[in-house]
Amino acid sequence: MLETRQQKLNKQYLSGLSEDELISLITKFQWPSFKARQIHSWIYKKYISSIDEMTDLSIKDRNFLSEHCELSLLELVQKQVSQDKTIKYLWNLTDGGKIESVRMFLEDHDSYSACISSQAGCAVGCPFCATGKMGFKRNLKAQEIVDQILGMQRDTKERISNVVFMGQGEPLLNYDEVLTAINLIKGSVGIGSRHITLSTSGIIPGIKKLSDEKLQITLAISLHAPDQKTREFLVPVSKQYNLNELMESLHYYYRKTKRRITLEYVMLDKINDQIEKAKELSDLIKGLHCHINLIPYNPIEHSFKDPGNSSILQRPSNGKIYNFKAILEKRSGKKVTIRRERGIDIAAACGQLANLFTNL
Ligand code: SAH
Ligand code: SF4
Repeated sequence: MLETRQQKLNKQYLSGLSEDELISLITKFQWPSFKARQIHSWIYKKYISSIDEMTDLSIKDRNFLSEHCELSLLELVQKQVSQDKTIKYLWNLTDGGKIESVRMFLEDHDSYSACISSQAGCAVGCPFCATGKMGFKRNLKAQEIVDQILGMQRDTKERISNVVFMGQGEPLLNYDEVLTAINLIKGSVGIGSRHITLSTSGIIPGIKKLSDEKLQITLAISLHAPDQKTREFLVPVSKQYNLNELMESLHYYYRKTKRRITLEYVMLDKINDQIEKAKELSDLIKGLHCHINLIPYNPIEHSFKDPGNSSILQRPSNGKIYNFKAILEKRSGKKVTIRRERGIDIAAACGQLANLFTNL
């Protein structure tokens, strides 16, 4: 008889557990701890899709494990493959919520990067972001965060070697679970700190805390504007965490970690793409060890409307973007890149997550 999802809910999920957690689980079964290492290796290194594939466990052990445990807590609902080979995944959470993750091919490195979610929805509510439009649903557990990477590896049987926290949610508003997940990504999934990027809208207490952990991950800041007023419109949480204090926290992060920071700047026509803004931005970041990543705005449905009901959020022309880049580069002396779009045909590009699936 097929088990219902409700019956499965009462089971223990294995994928995304640390080796220690697996040991304490199987100790309850009165199994020796080496079996936890075998299970750990099947989950993290061999990308198995079912407990039956754990062939170095006896059939009796596998049956017992299947009776009491489930492999994955994320259920694949939908998968879309873009023309550029980007894959977008929609997962069901055990409580019926949904989240998305994206796998991108990094041509320069001939490897794959996972863009993962840290929350279902997001409370920050940036007007240009599809996730922000959903509102906040809930924080994800570390196991749910890590299982997104494992789920992509299970599906493709290919190793993920890079992780970015740039999917749904504000990672620093789910600090403890995100930190546990980072440690699991390093220790169990086997991805080094330098291949992990955490992007935040600027939650200052979280940045300070993270600085003190002295992790070697890359911190990316969604700056988007060089002045308080524009930033308050684009990143509403900056009313609480203002620009001056944010900049101070970034200097602190560098002092503690010696890691160069990435500043993300979504390019919006006539809002933050003027030459004046490029000049203001280069003044603001003077003395900060950073590089700037310009992100051409990816249109989303239901984006912010002006009273005339036409969308006021537009992507600038390529000419304007290149001009902004040139001025910023020249004045600041910093490296400025323009983010390449991936998966735009399946709404898997930056900020588009939740676009297509919200009505499911
Ligand atoms: N909440 C975190 C991480 C997720 S968003 C943060 O805001 O940093 C990842 C990046 O995508 C952020 O820099 C965000 O500002 C950007 N982004 C969101 N919506 C976008 C859109 N419609 N077009 C381009 N970039 C967008
Ligand atoms: Fe949340 Fe980031 Fe989207 Fe802003 S850009 S609403 S912080 S996910």
